[in-house]
Amino acid sequence: MDVLWQSIPDIAKRVAEGDVSATELCEASLARIAAIDDGHGAFLSVAADSARAAARAVDERRARGETLGPLAGVPVAVKDVLCTADQPTSAGSKILMRDGRAWQPPYDATSVARLRQAGAVLVGKANCDEFAMGSSNENSAFFPAKNPWDRTRTPGGSSGGSAVAVAAAMTPGALGTDTGGSVRQPASFTGTVGVKPTYGRVSRYGVIAFASSLDQVGPFARDVRGAAALLQAIAGPDPLDPTSLDRAVPDYLGACEGSVRGLRIGVPEEYFTEGLEPEVDAQVRGALAHLASEGASLHPIGLPHTKHAVATYYVVACAECSSNLARFDGIRFGGRASVERDLAAATAATRGAGFGAEVKRRIILGTYVLSAGYYDAYYRRAQRVRAAIARDFEAAFAVVDAIATPVAPTVAFPLGSRADDPLAMYLADIYTLPASLAGVPALSVPCGLGQKSRLPIGLQLIAPHFEEARLFTLARAVERTAPDAGARPPAS
Ligand code: GLN
Repeated sequence: MDVLWQSIPDIAKRVAEGDVSATELCEASLARIAAIDDGHGAFLSVAADSARAAARAVDERRARGETLGPLAGVPVAVKDVLCTADQPTSAGSKILMRDGRAWQPPYDATSVARLRQAGAVLVGKANCDEFAMGSSNENSAFFPAKNPWDRTRTPGGSSGGSAVAVAAAMTPGALGTDTGGSVRQPASFTGTVGVKPTYGRVSRYGVIAFASSLDQVGPFARDVRGAAALLQAIAGPDPLDPTSLDRAVPDYLGACEGSVRGLRIGVPEEYFTEGLEPEVDAQVRGALAHLASEGASLHPIGLPHTKHAVATYYVVACAECSSNLARFDGIRFGGRASVERDLAAATAATRGAGFGAEVKRRIILGTYVLSAGYYDAYYRRAQRVRAAIARDFEAAFAVVDAIATPVAPTVAFPLGSRADDPLAMYLADIYTLPASLAGVPALSVPCGLGQKSRLPIGLQLIAPHFEEARLFTLARAVERTAPDAGARPPAS
């Protein structure tokens, strides 16, 4: 059904006006998943019954003349690191499974609960790298997701399934999480819009933690207005997450109609160096030229500590993950690999069998950098460099309103091409990590297909803390003028 390709606010409006029912939309989404997801691997589980019940509830509210929420009837997918009370949650890992059965959380993540309150219909849980660690979805303990633009390639990661669900119009919107780029990079690789909000903008309650000082929940949609509508629904303070901040949430859909005239855009030289593929460079510069032609001004800036971002991130993120993942001991959650009576042996057997190689690598690295004798040399030093990276952004935002860069140095790479080379994989995040370390909001908006590859390329826009609205204004201007806008992946 073509309505699945439409923009989220338009779909919700059609539901409110009775032009299409939530049930019809839900059936269309389930049918599309059934028809094409075998070849895409976007979903780890589909909850047809509870989706149908949620859709029916929306239709009944409408029949009773009640006002519907802003996402009424919109089918959505959520990354499988977000807890859902009515659906299994795996974190892309086997460690939460017991006797071959998935774990089912006793509650919803706040972002999930807010989507439901807004009327969205949750159709299933999206594939991802194990515990959100990865850049290609190949670290999923189950199967990799595939890029609908070329199914021999990665959709990116770690929120790959969410990106694929949206790019192939199985659902018009999805939630992912972004710790170091996991929403923005897959958005860039699949031609969708993906937002990493300011740290503290969206509640982390019910997000299975990877690196708590970096994790944020963020939306995917086929266009900027769709992403704005989703963020509107999930943003705002939550008493259940003390790091969520009590700041008013502005009108993001309204911001999509704003003008870019007079906005000052910083272009950091550190993001346009060797390693950046020429076709990515070309489309990004094309988008910058469009913004300038609409009245924004471009300014060369420096973010001098950028070169330390990869090293800093992998110290901080691994340290936090080694601490967060300590709770998976086979006793409190999930399955147990051994019935040995010795606690250490039982825990070691469970963790040895339950975690994949990348998760183990990071727990070991993180434990090392936090251990006595190495703490100062690695962890404390990384915290200092993190502060320096944040100061780079502060200094830049004293003179510009936003920053524009590529999202990733390349287009989507072939599945398998980096799976055995962690360093090459880590370098895929080189342009997304700094904003994560600084806690500032950033998004990816499609800015054209590569001239050679014909694969999607994203422009990254970065703003000061809590200025997501400005990102939407700029991104909408890019979307309006981007070449190949509205192009659909050939595989669908
Ligand atoms: N690719 C990065 C990593 O593997 C980022 C992951 C994320 O944002 N969840 O850590």
